[in-house]
This record gives sequence, structure tokens and C-alpha cells, in this order.
Amino acid sequence: MFKTTFVALAFTTLAHAAGVPQIAIFLDFENEPSVTSISEMKEEVSAILKPSGLQLDWRMLNNRKDDESFQDLVVVKFKGSCQMRNPALDSELGPSIGGVALASTQVSDGRVLPFSDVECDRIRHYISNEVVSKDEEKRESIYGRALGRVLAHELYHIFTGTQHHAHEGVARSFHTRRDLTGKEFRFSPTESNMLHQLKWRALLASEGERPSVAVDEGPALLQARQ
Ligand SMILES: [Zn+2]
Repeated sequence: MFKTTFVALAFTTLAHAAGVPQIAIFLDFENEPSVTSISEMKEEVSAILKPSGLQLDWRMLNNRKDDESFQDLVVVKFKGSCQMRNPALDSELGPSIGGVALASTQVSDGRVLPFSDVECDRIRHYISNEVVSKDEEKRESIYGRALGRVLAHELYHIFTGTQHHAHEGVARSFHTRRDLTGKEFRFSPTESNMLHQLKWRALLASEGERPSVAVDEGPALLQARQ
């Protein structure tokens, strides 16, 4: 699937020359998401990544046009249902299992690639106890905040090119329920500074590298654990 997507999107490699690069973030939903959640997710990602100075251009993958090109791009697939239905009705998801990944990003030959999966069902199940007493609009808003924090973690890996994790903040290898739903959750000063000093590199190194990228070739995964 990623291979098809990948080939269908046009790239240019103007990122360095253009100064602050604008990065297209293509969103690919398995199921219709909540408008409130996705709006909140975008705001949260933008706020968390503000130290990087990067300009994010949010796009829907199914609305892409064949003649568009981008300085650089990321493709994020959202698996499951990305809306906070009544948490009390989520029993079909089963018990929450510790240590499962809330999202993952592809790695090939040690290089972090701009393709991530976000596990919507796991995230909504994980935070359900935190939002069960809220009204529907508030639940969707908090869920969007959680999605944004998980996605910001993956984008940190992609933008910095590192697989390493921090001891605290958004770049930590696991996120508590409180981390995902609390009022504010940001990168620690070290990672924030790393993003601020970011020397931009093309997310995919060369034309020749691109056609070889395929999820079914078994790349390693980075995992944002709960
Ligand atoms: Zn990670």
C-alpha cells in the first residue's frame, strides 16, 4: 500500500534551498474520523513541534492531485476508528495490554522513513477511563490531543532521523494516560533544542532510494509505547 502511495506522489528536493521547509503531512484514514478530533490533533502537533520552525501542510491522501509536488512529505496511516465513541461501549476492544505500540514508523537499513501508522483503536481504548465522564465534544477534543501527542512522537523520529528516545517528554518511549490527556505535554528542553537546531535533510535521500521503499519488505519499527 505504501509503495503505491509513494510512487503516486510527486517530490521535489528544494528543502535546503527554500530555507524553512514546508512539509506536506498526508493523512490516510481507514475509517471516517471525528472532525473535532482531527482538528485538535493538528493544533496539538503544531504546538508541540513549534520549536522546529517547520511549516506543516496538512493534506488528505484521498484528495491528492497527480500534478502536485512537495518539498518533502510524510504519510500517516490511521488504523481503526479515529473517533471517541462512548468509551463505555468500547468493550469490543478487550482489555488494555501493557507495552503495545500506540504508533510506529518505518525504518529501513537504519534510516527512519517518513511513513507512520497510528493505532486509533488502541489510543482511544487506552484513554477511555480518562474521558468517560466528559461530554461527547470534550471526549473528541481530548482524544484529538492524545492523537496529536502520539503523532508528534513519530514526527520527532522522522524529522530528526533518530531512533533514540528521551527520558522525559513527548520523545519518551512510553506515554502514560495522563501524558496523553493532561493539559500540556511537550518535548523536554534537550529534544526541543534539537528540533530548534534542526539542519534539514530530505526525508528520503535520493530519487534512486525511493522505489525500493515498501512496507512488505520487513523494515524495523519504532514504537511509541504506552
Ligand atoms: Zn519512539
